[in-house]
Amino acid sequence: MHSKKHLSFAALRDFVSSRVKNIPDGRQESKVVHRFHDVVMSAFAMMFFQDPSLLQFQKRMEEARQTSNLKTLFGVSSVPRDTCMREALDRLDPKHLAPVFADFFHELQRSKGLEQYRAFTRFYVAAIDGSGYFSSEKLHCPGCLVKKGRYEHQIVQAALVHPGKRQVIPLCSEEVRNTDGRDKQDCEINAGKRLIKNLRKYHPHLPLVIVADSLYSKQPFIETLAKERMRFVLVAKEEDHKVLMEYVEGARALKETSRLEARDVKGRLHVYEWINGVPLNGNDDAPSVNWLSYELHDKGKRTYHNAWVADLPIDEKNAEELASIGRCRWKIENETFNTLKNQGYHIEHNFGHGEEHLSFNFFLLNLLAFFMHQIFELTDHLYQACREKLGTKRSLWENLRVFMRSFIFPDWETLLRNVHTPSDFG
Ligand SMILES: [Zn+2]
Repeated sequence: MHSKKHLSFAALRDFVSSRVKNIPDGRQESKVVHRFHDVVMSAFAMMFFQDPSLLQFQKRMEEARQTSNLKTLFGVSSVPRDTCMREALDRLDPKHLAPVFADFFHELQRSKGLEQYRAFTRFYVAAIDGSGYFSSEKLHCPGCLVKKGRYEHQIVQAALVHPGKRQVIPLCSEEVRNTDGRDKQDCEINAGKRLIKNLRKYHPHLPLVIVADSLYSKQPFIETLAKERMRFVLVAKEEDHKVLMEYVEGARALKETSRLEARDVKGRLHVYEWINGVPLNGNDDAPSVNWLSYELHDKGKRTYHNAWVADLPIDEKNAEELASIGRCRWKIENETFNTLKNQGYHIEHNFGHGEEHLSFNFFLLNLLAFFMHQIFELTDHLYQACREKLGTKRSLWENLRVFMRSFIFPDWETLLRNVHTPSDFG
């Protein structure tokens, strides 16, 4: 990978900063104490440095060295109080933050950092999944979903994944959100369709294969994918696809399905079975799909089984890769949602709920911080060395916050260098 200057902390921060500067500030002039830019960038810095709460961030910012570092690193000239931050972020339309994800993506692509994410030589794999990031018995807003007496916020997220890569690249987020005056609750699958349209809007030419769970292997979603020129490998549970499975069983009885068996170095048996061109369901206009099943047998026992429908024609050359891509779906759950929930990002933590967009904007800023960290993990040697030295992410960010309390740093690289080798500082 050649020059990564455009993937440096400063370059990525400038993308966020310039998008934020272009957001119209709808507040009344007389009431404005802090520039909108300072409000959003402060919240972003809080997520970037993984402060566990708004209160702790505010406390940290009472120290002169900390505010000084915030100014050099994030260009914040005055740190807003928590109420001011919450009010301003509540009114911010999340559509203003969405383009930054595409900015980051395009820079990664430009640096050839995404070549290792290619599948079937020319495609990229985007996993899609829904997750909740807020749940309460009392606290709610007009956009809350109501489930079993609890108020909830959910999103459907798309992220670039690859069987051989631990890092996931966030692409697009779509809220599952109730809008006023609608008595029907929004649902994950509808949000998923909106997500697909946005994904195409931000990445008009990207050759994409969508992987998702069985909820998505239904006709309307598959038609949405076809309309947006995306390919798919979607989990197909037997109980969701009775007609399809009858076709498969009929073909199997006539020995019309293809089969491939491979034994690995550990002696485990991998069994692939597939058939191309079967109807997805019993409708007259059912889409024709290709069905693939994969089983893993260890010491005579079946230890894993899954099946998918795909629109890529399956043969003995690609069956293995197709199954490994289908299996990538778990990465969005494990490497994205679980990381955001359990590894210092405090995604379920209540930074604030608001009346309009506050909790979703906090989610987006948190995800953006995660994205920036993922880019450093993929491309920044100094960051990689710090991660290695400090073991866990949590301890890295604790160290970074402690160092910012003690010294004033001219830039991010100097901060990292000193966390890595403290004795150098003088
Ligand atoms: Zn709400």
